[in-house]
Amino acid sequence: MKTPYNHPLPLCRSEMEARGWDQCDVILVTGDAYVDHPSFGAPLIGRWLESHGYRVGLIAAPDPNDVEAFRVLGPPRLFWGVTAGNLDSQLARLTVMRKRRRDDPYLPEGQGDLRPPNATIVYVTKVRQAFKSQISNLKSQIPVIIGGIEASLRRFPYYDYWTDSVKRSILFDSKADLLVYGMGETAIAEVARRLDHQEPLSGIPGTAEIRSLKLEIPNLKSFEDVSTNKDAFALMTREILLNAASDKPVTLIQPHGDRLLVVHPPAPPLAPALLDELYSLPFTRRPHPVYGKAKIAAYDMIKDSITTHRGCYGSCAFCAIATHQGKTIVSRSRDNILAEIRTLASTPDFHGTVSDLGGPTANMYGTRCKRQGAHCQRPSCLAPEICPTLETDAGPQLDLLRAARKLPRVNHVFVTSGIRFDLALAQEPRGVIEELAQHHVCGRLKIAPEHIAENVLRLMGKPTATAYRQFVRRFKEASAQAGKPQQIVEYFISGHPGCTLADMIELALYLKRENIQAEQVQDFYPAPLTLAAAMFHTGKDPMTGKPVYVARTDNEKAMQRALLLFHDPKFHRKAREALRAAGREDLIGRGAKCLVPEEKGDGRG
Ligand code: SF4
Repeated sequence: MKTPYNHPLPLCRSEMEARGWDQCDVILVTGDAYVDHPSFGAPLIGRWLESHGYRVGLIAAPDPNDVEAFRVLGPPRLFWGVTAGNLDSQLARLTVMRKRRRDDPYLPEGQGDLRPPNATIVYVTKVRQAFKSQISNLKSQIPVIIGGIEASLRRFPYYDYWTDSVKRSILFDSKADLLVYGMGETAIAEVARRLDHQEPLSGIPGTAEIRSLKLEIPNLKSFEDVSTNKDAFALMTREILLNAASDKPVTLIQPHGDRLLVVHPPAPPLAPALLDELYSLPFTRRPHPVYGKAKIAAYDMIKDSITTHRGCYGSCAFCAIATHQGKTIVSRSRDNILAEIRTLASTPDFHGTVSDLGGPTANMYGTRCKRQGAHCQRPSCLAPEICPTLETDAGPQLDLLRAARKLPRVNHVFVTSGIRFDLALAQEPRGVIEELAQHHVCGRLKIAPEHIAENVLRLMGKPTATAYRQFVRRFKEASAQAGKPQQIVEYFISGHPGCTLADMIELALYLKRENIQAEQVQDFYPAPLTLAAAMFHTGKDPMTGKPVYVARTDNEKAMQRALLLFHDPKFHRKAREALRAAGREDLIGRGAKCLVPEEKGDGRG
């Protein structure tokens, strides 16, 4: 590994020339602003390639209508890497109710218009357009490789919420040469090495490619089948998810017309020592100076946060982390994390608070499967019950937290990443909950029970309502003992597959009883390649084949949401409509048990 430069990757020719380069080896195009921080995907991959000796340039948030924006660094020697950025480009623009979002947190001053919808496809088209004449004079075209969350979750045919249809793999629609999925470091380094040695790109773990129909025997139903037959789509989803969860994954091969989509098994996760190396690269941890004082909201949110590990074995049905990052937890070493905190603490604008020390699920740090290598296809190590083979010891996380808060210039270390509370309850006798309450919560602990109705929780793959209540009780007791009156802020989802109006009423009554005003309400979004998206599209649970109720219309989704927000007069009218539709007029009125007042009560009708 070569020592990279400790100043940002070049964004323009003068920055290339300052390094003495006349050409980049690799140019990455991303939908995000360039923040040289390991939480931003394209800079992370750029720094990684740089550490392998490649000259990497970056085109950040280009104007999709200006082809010159793609010519700014000239063509690369080896390949273009294209990503929509840290966000799904459709979800970055629209809410689930299809309302336009005002701000994009990954862009300077939130410029909501800059990231185009289907950004991966748009950027590949623009790159090809920008270098058409040069490319046609070359013996072979400079390859375009797509990656990042948008491409990764669309590597197979996927349910597209915005058009209510099943689309083919994004590899076909983008016309890219190869798709790198998952976290990507191992695969992209191998891509660079092979292109540098003029070797073919075929067969790299963690990639998807297109091949001729004659060459392979398919093991997934064709795109034509899964796009027209919901049972075939459900079966495909089941096979993909079980393969992704397996420790012996196979190559999945699927006909698309007269060609084959070939998705190779995931690249093995980076070993802990390599993860340490990755996070030790000389990120400046700041936005590129070109943005001046412009505010980049996502940067403000993560600038004082530290990632402790990758992966999640919770496998909640609506979440794509397991199919993107993988189920295996890879934890950075304690010393490496503490070294990063020391570096952060030495920067002039650090004010003494590490805003988050965590990962996808904070209390999975240092936990592992005791039987690694044994055949296992369970998507979740926690649901429906905690696997006896899971090593749940919280010791590594507690040791890390205790060491971190003793570091010089560090006054507070908060944990604001998710906490999986069934796991926290099982992490006895090490007392994760007590440690958090005493030292690592800044007044409000955010947790995500998501629902209270057991049938919905089961479909979501979330802990039971009993576990949630136990966790809340323990946290409140621990906070009281610590002399800290701390609040719990709960996240809930409305409109998840399996959730009826009756289930939402059960949740609303719980909130009323417990005097909770839901602040964090998320409308369900069927993210590609998730179990819940397949339930939403097919009306079945792909794992059991059983029918699942789906709130499909915008009106029913709005009614479910209104039931969660029944305390807010703005939602009374819709909540009344929901209660009447569910035959629960008894909950409308002034009585103590009622959820909303009669029409006259709120003055809005
Ligand atoms: S802990 Fe259990 S469910 Fe998780 S990978 Fe190991 S054997 Fe499979």
